[in-house]
Amino acid sequence: MAENTVMEKLSSLAKRRGFIFQSSEIYGGLNACWDYGPMGVELKRNIKEFWWRSMTLLRDDIEGLDAAILMHPKVWETSGHVANFTDPMVDCKKCKGRFRADEAVSGRCPKCGGELTEARQFNLMFKTFMGPVEEGAAVVYLRPETAQGIYVNFLNVQGPSRQKVPFGIAQIGKAFRNEISPGNFIFRMREFEQMEMQFFVHPKEDEKWFEFWRQERMKWYFQLGIRQEKLRFHQHGPEELAHYAKAANDLQYEFPFGWQELEGIHNRTDFDLSRHSQATGKELSYFDEPTKERFIPYIIETSAGCDRTLLTVLIDGYYEEEVKGETRSVLRIAPHIAPFKAAIFPLVNRDGMPEVATKIYNNLRKKFKIFYDDKGAVGRRYRRMDEVGTPFCMTVDSQTLQDETVTIRDRDTMQQTRHKISELEGILQKKVEI
Ligand code: ATP
Repeated sequence: MAENTVMEKLSSLAKRRGFIFQSSEIYGGLNACWDYGPMGVELKRNIKEFWWRSMTLLRDDIEGLDAAILMHPKVWETSGHVANFTDPMVDCKKCKGRFRADEAVSGRCPKCGGELTEARQFNLMFKTFMGPVEEGAAVVYLRPETAQGIYVNFLNVQGPSRQKVPFGIAQIGKAFRNEISPGNFIFRMREFEQMEMQFFVHPKEDEKWFEFWRQERMKWYFQLGIRQEKLRFHQHGPEELAHYAKAANDLQYEFPFGWQELEGIHNRTDFDLSRHSQATGKELSYFDEPTKERFIPYIIETSAGCDRTLLTVLIDGYYEEEVKGETRSVLRIAPHIAPFKAAIFPLVNRDGMPEVATKIYNNLRKKFKIFYDDKGAVGRRYRRMDEVGTPFCMTVDSQTLQDETVTIRDRDTMQQTRHKISELEGILQKKVEI
């Protein structure tokens, strides 16, 4: 499918089926801000939950954190964001359009071909005011990344958790960037969510851990169900490296609009802790008891975008296929992150079928997110579930009333198999676990 066709189809499906809506839509929308509907919120929660589980539940050496969005404004001076978190921007003198300089490399307006102004630096941080007085002294920023909340809390977390270097801190939370050219649906937003993990290591072990996390993070996307051939690393050359980084890899996905970053894996050296220590006069070094060595840890960062991951899941899982002369659209997403794990249908609304189906529903819903649907032809019900990625549909039919079995229809193969009602919970558990 052509690039714009896929994106158009997906954003229309996302709206129609309750995944994603434009923010404040009835007011004409707010550019680059999006709301998640009933399906979207489940999918997003499942992605975050899977990340959190991989990082914190299944590892002994990573602790969780939930820092405030608003931080002391000096944090952003120290981190370099006030001075450096900028994009060069140009304006079109004719149509007044505004673009990132790298989007107008021909020197002419990409929209109307008009003449452009000189490039100006534009800071991407949103500013607001704390307290009742709108004056310079009260300026605070909406965080443009969650990472700084982790750095300033390094010792707060290390102390109570009694972790020893190497260890990490994981955080999921909102970040805000006043992007000059947002777009591609939820690819580049102004308000988005990050899933970041900062791993503190001995300076001599940085390269080893950088490589470790590169591999781990790639595996995570495989487990998320993303096709392997659509994922790759892009290594930053010296000219692309951020001021703080010794090494950087973009984990990229092949979007319909090209290979783009999904997650950044960075070796940030001791830049952040050293800078915060200098700025505050607070000791942010680590004392290693066995070797009696004191050092400022290096940081290996894995920085993923939750919304961008969700977009990837939708794009990667979206298929259209011909079935009996009709087009079926289906979201082939991994069962463990699907919004609904299964749907229950009574074939018809009589002969005791709704009662049996309701009983199954009430039992399974205690453990799984299940959808009950008794409206319309069963074929249409299957199609609706295909479009939201529900991996299994269970149907109660006349045979159920005789032998206590139901059919389970598989989303991807459309094959139906019969199973005992008493075994459904175990079967479903097995199918959705990772
Ligand atoms: P880009 O080059 O695309 O602007 P970046 O290099 O500035 O991204 P990072 O600062 O490394 O991105 O942020 C880490 C992750 O956060 C990105 O890989 C992406 O998944 C997510 N992210 C960053 N900016 C946005 C945004 N505006 N909208 C949605 N997700 C974003």
